[in-house]
Amino acid sequence: MKLSSLTAHLSVIALLFAAAPVSQAQHDAGAGNAPGDGESRVSVLEQDDGTIVASDPSGTYLYASWNVYFASPFFMRNKMRCGQPFLLSDGGKQTYGSKNDCSYSSTNPKSEYDPAVQKFSIPVVVHVLMHTNGNGAISDAMVQSQIDILNEDFMALPGTNGSPGSDCQVEFYLATVDPNGNATTGITRTTNNNWYNDSGNYKSSLYWNTNKYFNIYTNTASGYLGYAYMPQQGGVVGNSIDGVVCNWRAFGRNSPYGPPYNQGRTTTHEAGHYLGLFHTFDNGCGTTSACYSSGDTICDTNRESGPVYGCPGNSNTCSSQDPFHNYMDYTDDLCMYEFTPEQARRLRCTVEYWRPNLFTSGGGSTLIFEDDFESGDYASGGWVTQNGKCRIHKKSAYSGAWGARLKRLTNVEKTFSTVGFSQVRVNYAAMVTNYTGTKKLLLQWFDGTSWVTVDNVQSSTFANQSVFLPAGAENNPNCRIRFKSKEKTKGSFASFDDVAVWGD
Ligand SMILES: [Zn+2]
Repeated sequence: MKLSSLTAHLSVIALLFAAAPVSQAQHDAGAGNAPGDGESRVSVLEQDDGTIVASDPSGTYLYASWNVYFASPFFMRNKMRCGQPFLLSDGGKQTYGSKNDCSYSSTNPKSEYDPAVQKFSIPVVVHVLMHTNGNGAISDAMVQSQIDILNEDFMALPGTNGSPGSDCQVEFYLATVDPNGNATTGITRTTNNNWYNDSGNYKSSLYWNTNKYFNIYTNTASGYLGYAYMPQQGGVVGNSIDGVVCNWRAFGRNSPYGPPYNQGRTTTHEAGHYLGLFHTFDNGCGTTSACYSSGDTICDTNRESGPVYGCPGNSNTCSSQDPFHNYMDYTDDLCMYEFTPEQARRLRCTVEYWRPNLFTSGGGSTLIFEDDFESGDYASGGWVTQNGKCRIHKKSAYSGAWGARLKRLTNVEKTFSTVGFSQVRVNYAAMVTNYTGTKKLLLQWFDGTSWVTVDNVQSSTFANQSVFLPAGAENNPNCRIRFKSKEKTKGSFASFDDVAVWGD
């Protein structure tokens, strides 16, 4: 049991409840909303009269208001500032190339992840869930103020609360185009008292393609200030659960809750998880000699054994000053003001390799073409198929209703221009079914003489792939790629979807 710098009194309470699974058990990615819902460990509901009923294994408590609740021992002992579920496994999905540089268990902050390389711009949709009594009905301006705070914090904008931190060169903006191609404000509004209390399967009704949009929901967040999923947990990206849920009272600038959680840092913190960052205190102190594979897998955040609340002048849980000014701790909003340079590199690695279809532009990258096969055929996307064994199939869809399928030994080819670009990157999602031995789905590039394999997939579940084409693919009016299936047994097929080619 990790003890934080709470008062002795609260530490005793925390010890009394050490049996509760504070570190969340394996979360069922397909069911429920807040982590722990499946276990009914903690339940927090706003009643129609505005009072809060909160239950945990120690009993049921009634609070006069959210403000009283947020200041309660219940809030602290159950670590309700954030409900990022804590898993012990890698989720089995970190075996592809440089995903290992930001896996669930380790970080390799190589220079290619330096923010100076390029800016990532991420489209956001905010789903506002409201009660019939008017609670939760935050304004568009309040939503925009939260986006502004994300940018102040992730880009350390001068003259803002986020200026002391590292400039991660990650930018957020409210989406201007919805999944159907229509203009949008990037905000949806739904009145549903059940959903307002974070109950019911609202995400499956409301989510926008989680490969391409950062989905944020505002409601009571099950009594947490917020919760999120790390893509490295596996089964997250592309799933409707992906995204961040924030307590509407702590959302935006000068939000209704008031100090100390009213300056939008809950969303900054949850966005940190969404981009692959652990709490600074996760896994305890870790070891100094293996700081990239223990603790929070980051070396330039000091070691920390448990969350720090408030804003102490000093806090020392692992023989050095705790990193309580970090966004990934639990301190007050105005006490936290930085991601470190290595956190910036880990979250940028996460964008690049775990959320490769999320960023749409970015100070250099330009979309050359994309196809999610929702047209229902290859021809609309300009693909040339080898024979009738190449189909568009519903059961090959990674997102949307349709995906591409290659049966047995077949391939589909695409030609496009890369003139004006000095580097070309291909993103796609793929999996294989009934493949044997070392057989794979190949992504190949034509070098003018022969086909060169640049990437391969053996996974039996969809994996997000991101690969740079070799030198020679750039500045080429007739750049050719193809997907080729290498398994000839009957009943075998490969699926791929969401192909996007980017030029720098
Ligand atoms: Zn958290």
